[in-house]
Amino acid sequence: MIPVEKARSLILDQIQRMGTEKLDLLHSLGRVLAEPVLSRRDHPPWNSSAMDGYAVRHVDVLEASEKKPVPLEVIEEVAAGVLPTKIVGRGQASRIMTGAPVPEGADAVIRVEDTRAEGGSVQIACPAEPGENVRLRGEDIQAGHVMLAQNSVMGPAEVGLLASLGRSHVLVYQRPRVAILATGNELADFDEALTPNKIMNSNGYALAAQVLEAGGVPVILGIAKDTREDLLSRLTQGLTSDLILISGGVSVGMYDFVKEVLDRLGIRMDFWKVAMKPGEPLAFGSLQAKPVFGLPGNPVSTMVTFEQFVRPALRKMQGHTLLFRPIIEAVLMERITKKPGKTHFVRAVVKKAGDRHEVWTTGNQSSGVLTSMVKAHGLLIFPSDLSEIEKGQVVKVQLLDKSFLGQAVPGY
Ligand code: AMP
Ligand code: MG
Repeated sequence: MIPVEKARSLILDQIQRMGTEKLDLLHSLGRVLAEPVLSRRDHPPWNSSAMDGYAVRHVDVLEASEKKPVPLEVIEEVAAGVLPTKIVGRGQASRIMTGAPVPEGADAVIRVEDTRAEGGSVQIACPAEPGENVRLRGEDIQAGHVMLAQNSVMGPAEVGLLASLGRSHVLVYQRPRVAILATGNELADFDEALTPNKIMNSNGYALAAQVLEAGGVPVILGIAKDTREDLLSRLTQGLTSDLILISGGVSVGMYDFVKEVLDRLGIRMDFWKVAMKPGEPLAFGSLQAKPVFGLPGNPVSTMVTFEQFVRPALRKMQGHTLLFRPIIEAVLMERITKKPGKTHFVRAVVKKAGDRHEVWTTGNQSSGVLTSMVKAHGLLIFPSDLSEIEKGQVVKVQLLDKSFLGQAVPGY
């Protein structure tokens, strides 16, 4: 039996990044860049107007006011999408629209609200600082600069940025295909009758959802009977995926043949047990650098071990640099106890109270109680060496769901 931290580093040390693929921009949302992105030109490409108004020389309007407006000759109209043709000289101005290039000679833009047009001239009713209402060339993007580093995660802002660079396609890491095999004679699926001797294969679905959430592509291998033959034939199908998940059959029951079958397939297992609860029986190994996880069958154990070990592995495969869930500190609102020797991941409910977080357990912590995972905002980490934590102590909570934050300020 090895500690959680040891198991995690043993696993992550062996995980290799996926290959790359070129995607069109919109399909890259959520993916990780496999190359840095440089800009080929400045943005804005010219000094541009931030307002609809008049491009002026600020020295011409130093004394301008409501009471004593300064008249300027209007020499041109510059709409967005056209380049100015005239240089603004002393006593002159060009009518300009938002986003249009500021003509040579001008160094500020006066808002149209602070002006009054009169035939071929305009009355300017306020002064301007040099550069006022002018967006400088290259203010946002500079040619030749790295605009997004390799391993950046593509969010909506990154999509917009790459669009503004004229990049229709991007190179990202591939999504790993994850084979999911449920095991157990007691399991039924949606296409079978749920006879009194059967329970639903909920792990297959929870795992597929966890894989999707972690960015992977689930490949459902169905349910293997607790026989060597069925396990062997279904696991063999899994070998075409990038990672294999098996739920159940890794314990010490009479029909737990997973170990034996993995052995027969030549899968080298690194460990079979981790000092944690839920989730003690947890096997990890690899076949030709393909990671294989034998997850415990109890539904909470399956999900919690996925969280601790499989999700970080899938994220590493996809090029993410942040592999783990965020951890917050919270004040424990009830005393908790356990035997020392294992790290417990306690399903917990978090509330925000003023500037601190408070945390409660979800109640029954049995590894069969899937509703505890539905209630949980996170997993309270009850360290291996401790046997009790008093009410009022500060504990660490790994956040799975931030819904407890709610909407802090109405309207924002
Ligand atoms: P095992 O590790 O195979 O002994 O399974 C431990 C417990 O988890 C048993 O109560 C199983 O019925 C249950 N279990 C195993 N696989 C699944 C599954 N795919 N869906 C729901 N429960 C399961
Ligand atoms: Mg079983």
